[in-house]
Amino acid sequence: MLVLGVGSSNLFAQPYAPSGSTKILISVYAQQHPQSLILKPHKESFRVFGGGIMLAELKKNDLLYITSSKGKIRIRTIDRALGTFSRVLVKPSTDSNMFSLNPANPSLKNLRKYSGNIAFTAKGGGIESILETDFEQYIAGVVEAEIGGKQPLEMYKVQAIIARTYAIGHMNKHKGEKFNLCDDVHCQAYKGVACSNSEIVKGCEQTRDLVVVNRNNELITAVFHANCGGQTVNSEDVWPKYKSYLRSCSCPYCSNSKSYKWRMSVAVSKWDKYLEGNGVTVSPDQLPKGFEQPRRQSILEVGNVTFPLYKVRKDLGLRSTFFSYSQFGDSIVFSGKGFGHGVGLCQDGASSMAQLHMSYQHIISYYYRGCKIIHRQNAIPEKNEDAEMVDENANTNTLATSKSSFTGGDYFVPDSTLISP
Ligand SMILES: [Zn+2]
Ligand SMILES: [Zn+2]
Repeated sequence: MLVLGVGSSNLFAQPYAPSGSTKILISVYAQQHPQSLILKPHKESFRVFGGGIMLAELKKNDLLYITSSKGKIRIRTIDRALGTFSRVLVKPSTDSNMFSLNPANPSLKNLRKYSGNIAFTAKGGGIESILETDFEQYIAGVVEAEIGGKQPLEMYKVQAIIARTYAIGHMNKHKGEKFNLCDDVHCQAYKGVACSNSEIVKGCEQTRDLVVVNRNNELITAVFHANCGGQTVNSEDVWPKYKSYLRSCSCPYCSNSKSYKWRMSVAVSKWDKYLEGNGVTVSPDQLPKGFEQPRRQSILEVGNVTFPLYKVRKDLGLRSTFFSYSQFGDSIVFSGKGFGHGVGLCQDGASSMAQLHMSYQHIISYYYRGCKIIHRQNAIPEKNEDAEMVDENANTNTLATSKSSFTGGDYFVPDSTLISP
């Protein structure tokens, strides 16, 4: 059984709970749907409801065991069984009160902390956990999950604005389910309350309610990647859709990062097989054994076939499309720059701009051409909702899809059945 560090209150930093807050519904552990979870209050007190009635009051150091059982949720405390219900709700006595929630098996190294109300129902043999939490506190959690605890303040502001722009533009991404966004990279990675660094919270507070929009005040598809290798990519070179603000730009700021350069070798026999499998009919002896890409291009021509570079990257598992190659003996050696799809904001570049004391406004307008930062209430949904912006590299946590049936009026509408027993 997982021991949850009973009494270790230093696990919990002060939560970011601004007054007059807006709520959002997040499906947590959405990817895993664990079979059992352990909930531990940070301090007193939490009320537990099942079948519409209050079953128990949890104090600090109490534990609540939650298990999926035959399509229902079975709960118990350390010393007594509370029963089996189709839905269980846990509510804190105050909004800022936190709890940890972690799968009982297998145990996680980093315990996750949440604040807000949470409802549990059974789903596919596991537990669906829907958290109703403060929107800005959620944004701080996303920033922490995305860029962690060692960045300049201005970089946290940049990432907060991007996370907020995405969240507001995709409130209906899980339409038909009882939550707004999931905690997986499908929406935005979220691992609970940001506790690692108070600068993250400060970066969110100082950009509260701000989002990025295009010239028409439409929320943009604020994609980003780890490192551009010195030049970013036009959106249509990776995805079907042209976006006026996702234009290639030179980026002199990311060259000192470890993701800037890479090398990878592929056996000549494997490379020849790959070309043949994709319709290259010219004999390997007659093909050039090299390719140069001093500035970014979008295609590679080999014999009778034109390959989009994003396809070669995906098929061979390369770190970026910004590569050249040549043959050395039995190997084709790819040497490349950058990490990720290269569209939109370069995170390493943005981070060093922040270190050079450039403002978040400057950084955002550098990578998103012609865009501006405004209050979310003045933003409207982006048109061209049919654009599929599929991230082929989940490692860079890029915002996935811009398909949205968003309407301005129903941001953050909580399911009223969630917050009441
Ligand atoms: Zn999702
Ligand atoms: Zn860059």
